[in-house]
Amino acid sequence: METRGLWWNIHDFPHYREIFYTLFYISVLFFIYGFYLKIKNWSRGKLKNNFNNIPNRLKNMFEKSFFHKGWEKYKVLRLAHGLVFFGFFALWIGTDILTVQDKMPVYFFRGLFYKVYSLAMDLSGILMLFGLLIFTYIRYIQKPKRLDNYQNDWFQLVYLALFVIIGFLIEGLRQSATNQIEPYAPLGALIAGGFQGLSYDMQKSIHLTLWWLHSLQTFSFIALIPFTKFNHIFIAPVNLFFADSEPKGKLTTPFNLVEILEMENPPEDFAQSVSGIEDFSWKDLMDLDACTACGRCHEVCPATNSEKPLSPKQVILDLKQIMYGKPLQKSVVSDLISPETLWSCTSCNACVESCPVGINQLSKIIDLRRTLIHENKAPNNLLNTLKNIRSRSNPWGQPPEDREKWTEGLDVPMIDATGEFEYLYWIGCAGAYDSRNQNISKTMVKLLKKASVKFVILGKKEKCTGDTARRAGDEGLFQELAIENIEVFKSKNIKKIITHCPHCFNTFKNEYPEFGLKDVEIIHHTEILWDLIKAGKLNMTREISEEITYHDSCYLGRHNGQYNTSRNILNKIPGLKYTEMKNSRERGTCCGGGGAQLWYEAPGKQINVMRLNEIKDSGAKAAATACPFCTIMLETARTLDKSTEPPKVQDISELVARAIL
Ligand code: SF4
Ligand code: SF4
Repeated sequence: METRGLWWNIHDFPHYREIFYTLFYISVLFFIYGFYLKIKNWSRGKLKNNFNNIPNRLKNMFEKSFFHKGWEKYKVLRLAHGLVFFGFFALWIGTDILTVQDKMPVYFFRGLFYKVYSLAMDLSGILMLFGLLIFTYIRYIQKPKRLDNYQNDWFQLVYLALFVIIGFLIEGLRQSATNQIEPYAPLGALIAGGFQGLSYDMQKSIHLTLWWLHSLQTFSFIALIPFTKFNHIFIAPVNLFFADSEPKGKLTTPFNLVEILEMENPPEDFAQSVSGIEDFSWKDLMDLDACTACGRCHEVCPATNSEKPLSPKQVILDLKQIMYGKPLQKSVVSDLISPETLWSCTSCNACVESCPVGINQLSKIIDLRRTLIHENKAPNNLLNTLKNIRSRSNPWGQPPEDREKWTEGLDVPMIDATGEFEYLYWIGCAGAYDSRNQNISKTMVKLLKKASVKFVILGKKEKCTGDTARRAGDEGLFQELAIENIEVFKSKNIKKIITHCPHCFNTFKNEYPEFGLKDVEIIHHTEILWDLIKAGKLNMTREISEEITYHDSCYLGRHNGQYNTSRNILNKIPGLKYTEMKNSRERGTCCGGGGAQLWYEAPGKQINVMRLNEIKDSGAKAAATACPFCTIMLETARTLDKSTEPPKVQDISELVARAIL
C-alpha cells in the first residue's frame, strides 16, 4: 500500500527528533513573545468596547479575510492572494497532519489518504507558486502607484517561493532515491526524473541538507511571523473581527455633554485631545499593526489624487512609527503629521471602505483634528466658519433671521402656524442660505405639496446640525448644537424628519441618538420622492430626453449605504438615458466638499474639478446630485471649466419636478 516513512533519510541523523522539536518549540516561543509584545503595545491605548455583536463580527471576518469580499476591483490581485492564501493554508494543514501522524499510534498515512494528501500538497504548492509569480508581476513589473516596494517586500516573496521550491526538491529527491515515482504527486514525480542521473548517496545527502534547510526555514518563519509583514496572516482577521461595528457615518464621541451636564461635579477639562500614541484606543493601535501598506486607501483618496499633502496610508504608517518608539519632541501632530495633512481630508470614507483589513483611517484623522482645534491651530477661514456656526448657527455667517427668507412668496407651512403635520422638512444651512440650493428647497416644497404631504419647516428655529463642526474637530460645538436641536424636536413632538442634505441625514440618523434623539424616523429627500413616485402620488409623465449620470454623495452612499434610491428615480423618468460613471457607488469620487472642506481647501488640485472631468468622461450631458454640498462644489467646478458646455448639475428633486410640473 502506498505510503512513505515520515522521517525517511533523517533517521540516521543523530538526535534528529530532539533537535527538530527543540527548534520547533523555540520558534513557537518567539512567536508567542512577538505577539505578547504586540498585545502589550495595543494595551497602551484607551479602552474601547469592540466585543459586541460577535456573530456579525465573525461574519465580517470570514467574508473579508477568507472570501476576499471588497476585492472586486482587484480581480488579478484577488486571484493571486487567494492562491497564496489557500495554498499556504493547505500546506500548513498538511504539515500539521504529519506532526499528528508522528505522535499517533495508529498509522493512517497510507493508501487512498496518502494519495489524496500527496496530490493536495503538490497542487497547493503549484498554486501558491503561481500566486507568488502574479504578485511579483504586479509589484515589480506593473508597479502600481499605491505600492512603495519597501519594507522588504521582496524578502517575503522570495522567502515563500523558496519555501515551496525546496519542498518540491525534497519531494523529488525522495521519490527518485527510493525509486518510488508517485504520479499522484505530479510535480514531485517530474522533478524526480531530473535527479535520476545522480548516485543514490548523492541524492540522499542533498535530500538531508535540503530537509534541514526546509525545517530551519519553517521554524524561522514561525519565529518571524510577529516581527514581519507575515503577521498580517493573524492580525488582519483579528483586526477585521474587532472592526468598528457602529454606523459608518458615526464619528467617535470623546466625551458626552449630556452626561457631563447631569454630573454633580463635572470635570473641568473634559475635551480630550490626542498628543501621544496612548491617546488613541487599543483598536486604533491594533489598526496600525494591521496595515499591510497595500495602498488601496492611497489609491482612492481624493486628497491624494488631487496632490494634496495627505495620504491615508502614510498617516497610518507614520502613526505606526510613533507606536514603535519614534521619539517625539512635542506631539503627534507637530512632529510627524502636519496640520495641512489633516486639514486635507474630505471625510469621504473612501479609505475606510477600501481597506481590506478593517482599518479606520478617518477616525484617526478626526481625532488629530480635535487636537488641532483644542490647541487653536486651525486655519483662519476654518476658525471663522466655526465662529459663524457658534454665533449665527450657520457656517456662512448669515443672519439667523434670514434663514426663512427663501420662503418669501411661497406658501411654506411653518411649524408654529400649522396644525397637524406628519413630517418636518429639514432645509439645512445650504438649502436656506445658498442661492442655488434655495431654488432646490423651493422645488422640493412644490413637490411635497403636489403629493399632498403634510409637512412643516422650522424656519428660524432651525440651526446647523453641527456636521461641519464635528468633522472639523470642534466636538464641543457639535454637541451643543445637537442638544439644542434635539430639544426643539422634542418640544415640537417631531416624529419624522425629511432632510434635504445627506450630511444632516447622517448626523440625525447616526450621531444624534447618542445625545437623546430617539424614536424619530430620518428620511432623505430622495427616499420620500421615491416612495411618493411608487405610491402614484408623483407621476412623472414629461419626457427628459437627456443623457444623465448620477454623482454619489459620500454621506448618502459610503456612509449610509444608499446607492439605489436616486438611480431608481432617474431610471423611472421618461426618456432619460442613464449613464453610470466609472467611479461610482462605493468607489464614487468625492466632490471635495465634505469634512468642512467646503470652507477650506488645502493646497493642490481642486477635487470638484477632478470630479467634473469624470462626469464629462462618462459622456453624460448632466449629473444628478442628491446633496447640496455636492451641488455647490460641482456648480463651482462648472464655472472654472473651459469647455463651451460643461455638464449641467441638477438635484434629483429638480429632475423629478421637470418630469412632472
Ligand atoms: S476620508 Fe477620504 S479624503 Fe479623508 S483620508 Fe480617507 S479617502 Fe482621503
Ligand atoms: S490602511 Fe488599509 S488600505 Fe491603507 S495601506 Fe494600510 S492596509 Fe492598505
